[in-house]
Amino acid sequence: MSSPTVRRGGVGSTSRGAWVLDVSFVRRWIVEAAARIEEQRDFLTQLDAAIGDADHGINMHRGFGAALATLESSAADQPPGELLERVGMTIVYRVGGAAGPLFGTGFRDIGRTISDAPAPDAEALLMALTAGLDGIQRLGAAAPGDKTIVDAWAPALTAFESSLRSGGRVDEAAREAADAATIGVAATLPMQARKGRASYLGSRSIGHQDPGATSTALLFGALERVVRRTA
Ligand SMILES: [Mg+2]
Repeated sequence: MSSPTVRRGGVGSTSRGAWVLDVSFVRRWIVEAAARIEEQRDFLTQLDAAIGDADHGINMHRGFGAALATLESSAADQPPGELLERVGMTIVYRVGGAAGPLFGTGFRDIGRTISDAPAPDAEALLMALTAGLDGIQRLGAAAPGDKTIVDAWAPALTAFESSLRSGGRVDEAAREAADAATIGVAATLPMQARKGRASYLGSRSIGHQDPGATSTALLFGALERVVRRTA
């Protein structure tokens, strides 16, 4: 992963407010994400039917259902990073297709980074989300513009970081990240897929919204809502 320099007491640090990247936040994030994926399960599958094999919503729903079971089977005081690592491994094993290893690796690397962070603050969340994207790109070798998860995650991360760097509160940064992810999803429509099953379609993948990017926007939407409620 790239390693952003950690600035103690940097913007978004807990000294500016009550927000803490704790296990309660992590649990709420996964619960909210699972709810959104359940709501959008059929839509995600429809998107995948157009340019893939029509299982993305089914797989994500099964994986996040398993992630909820992981939350239930984890000790209440399990450190947040360790809990996200467990969630990541659950998603690797329970979500099929390419999405399982990609999202699972993302959550696992988010968790590892939180475990190593010097303070449970907005900087730690930024580092963790960065590590998540790094993990996904290391595994999937997708670049921006390939019509993948990266096309929502990368702009969300850029927006989150620039908001924090310009003095934004963590909830503002999370809102800008969620908005950027949504815009990133729309931007996948005119793209020709260059990774994954959709790439087999060549130019026929143009005009369709990418399912993985769509799921990514749901994860960032969930993050925004939970940060807003806890900040
Ligand atoms: Mg599929």
